[in-house]
Amino acid sequence: MKPIYLTIALDTPLDRLFDYRWTPQENEPIPQIGQLVFVPFGRQEIAGMIIALAEKTEVPEDKIKDVLAVRHQCPALDQRWLDLCRFAADYYQRPLGEVILPALPKNLRAAKPVSLDRNLKKLQQQASAQDSSPQQEAELNPEQKEALEHITATAKFAAHLLYGVTGSGKTEVYLQACARVLAANVQAQVLILVPEINLTPQLAGNISRRFAGIQIATLHSGMAEGERLLHWLAAHTGRAQIILGTRLAILASLPHLKMIVIDEEHDPSYKQQDGLRYSARDLAVWRARQLGIPVVLGSATPSLETWQHAQAGRYRLLPMRERAVKDAVLPVVKIVNLEREKPSEGLTQRVVTAIRQRLEKGEQSLLFLNRRGYAPVINCDACGWISNCTRCTAHMVMHKLDQRLRCHHCGLAQRIPRACPTCGNVDLQPLGRGTQRLEEGLQKIFPEARIFRIDADSTRLKGSAEAAFDTVHRGEVDILVGTQMVAKGHDFKNLTLVAALNPDSALFSQDFRASERLFAQLMQVAGRAGRAAQKEGGNLSEVLVQTRYPDHPLYHALMAHDYDRFANGLVEERQQAAMPPFIYQALLRAEAKELAIAIEFLQIAATCTAHPGIIINDPIPMTMTRVHNVDRAQLLIESSSRPALQAFLKEWIANLRGIKTRVKWGVEVDPMDV
Ligand code: ADP
Ligand code: ZN
Ligand code: ZN
Repeated sequence: MKPIYLTIALDTPLDRLFDYRWTPQENEPIPQIGQLVFVPFGRQEIAGMIIALAEKTEVPEDKIKDVLAVRHQCPALDQRWLDLCRFAADYYQRPLGEVILPALPKNLRAAKPVSLDRNLKKLQQQASAQDSSPQQEAELNPEQKEALEHITATAKFAAHLLYGVTGSGKTEVYLQACARVLAANVQAQVLILVPEINLTPQLAGNISRRFAGIQIATLHSGMAEGERLLHWLAAHTGRAQIILGTRLAILASLPHLKMIVIDEEHDPSYKQQDGLRYSARDLAVWRARQLGIPVVLGSATPSLETWQHAQAGRYRLLPMRERAVKDAVLPVVKIVNLEREKPSEGLTQRVVTAIRQRLEKGEQSLLFLNRRGYAPVINCDACGWISNCTRCTAHMVMHKLDQRLRCHHCGLAQRIPRACPTCGNVDLQPLGRGTQRLEEGLQKIFPEARIFRIDADSTRLKGSAEAAFDTVHRGEVDILVGTQMVAKGHDFKNLTLVAALNPDSALFSQDFRASERLFAQLMQVAGRAGRAAQKEGGNLSEVLVQTRYPDHPLYHALMAHDYDRFANGLVEERQQAAMPPFIYQALLRAEAKELAIAIEFLQIAATCTAHPGIIINDPIPMTMTRVHNVDRAQLLIESSSRPALQAFLKEWIANLRGIKTRVKWGVEVDPMDV
């Protein structure tokens, strides 16, 4: 029998596909597009994906190699999934194989893969052994009802911005929309994306109790490979009908996908920060359009991009302005002027008093300080020495518990020196305050209180974040100290005070998105307060913000809970300054042992391709120039036309590949940190 030729995508930096030969074996079915194969590549055997079949090939007969095996056990990936990968590859300027293969579970790609049959059997067993103490649907309030009706009004493509204040019951709307989609189509799959699964265990629990009998798959980066394969297969074979995942789940194979939900759509974690630097939110909207299905973007503080789409009528704005729980109201936000009230241990008298009032009533307080460690730096008063990292443009952070200085960027750790390394002074001082120091200060002021800290240091072990949040939910904590980790999603029922201790630093950041992020973060963390109805004789729920800039418009908008005004102000600013979302950007990053080499490469890059309609800015060092002994610089490319930018990038990157250099470089489309 005549051989056929398979065009295959491989995970290599070479931006091309590869032809291999397949000769029919006894009883072996003909390979199909979308099937996984194993092929010889150099001296290795690697996995690839069939993109096309042909009777001829350009590769000479004596050069062509044979396919080693076709994985017939795994059903072929469908054309629409391949098209999604193709779009992502084109849009983010990566080789197709570098999108397709990493999107598949590792165990599927391993040369000696685990038994798929056994995994598929395991799936069946899991489906029948689901626990269920079923959860009832809540009776929706009018705003929720209206949102639900719009979302489920059509099964065609529609993008909805569910713009609901914290505690407005967005989750209930997602779940009821999900229920309707599943009821309308027995095979339907719904994808629910969340920023971080470990921080939203409540949601996973609610979903499985609500949808007894429906198989649920979860997909996130913290899973063991075996587990990931199992859940991926459940989605790919259509058995799992609800798929709950983080950004990577947007690239899952979902043959019967009928709706996508993106919770907290503004969250920066939807942006992948290495390899294929995609935005899961943007891909979700693309995927919904491709499939002709609805997509729901939920947030109390939408990203400006999404906000602008809604203002322009491309996305439907579904506002929910009230809290869902009866008699629960948004907390009162108050500004504490640090110029007038000097803090001690990082706390003004007003905050101390407010905490004391909570303690008296058995209510919880949350102190938000987005800086882990004991102190961000230590210094020597005598000679001016400060604890800088030797490998990065950054300070070494003091960690008191294990007496270490740590760089939060490269991981370098060393013992806290007993004396100043330059002058020998033994009186080294911690400067500033991190969560550990705050915790210590609180213990002095409130020796009787149960104080608890949640940050990346206190929750390093697997499962410890969930356990920590449970402790808070069980009411075993009076004062919770936390970083942004505590801001997200949690429904703390007994929390009536939130204090943001030191938010100012983000106000004057070079990053033009910093204020958008700060506002979202403060609104989120403020939203942890007052989620239940006020108890009789209990405290009114309030949020105190300590600041040196009490007149800053950001804080004023926060006090008024007025995201509309804040966002519209930002939109206007961005429009006038020709910044995103009114202009499209790409970033070329270069890394080298010396800054000059990186800059020199970028200068060559800036002139190597003709560019009508494209603005090429000057190469500049990144704000944090050195990380782990590598210097980093960047070149910002802008255009008012997305197609023009895309066309330019394609040609430009081809030219860049031709430059002989030892500089490590990469292009990012729609960068978030510019
Ligand atoms: P969001 O995600 O918008 O911040 P949640 O979905 O966490 O809000 O809902 C906040 C609280 O309101 C939860 O305790 C939820 O159970 C409750 N809730 C939601 N919808 C309703 C409703 N229609 N009636 C009563 N309680 C509701
Ligand atoms: Zn000194
Ligand atoms: Zn470092």
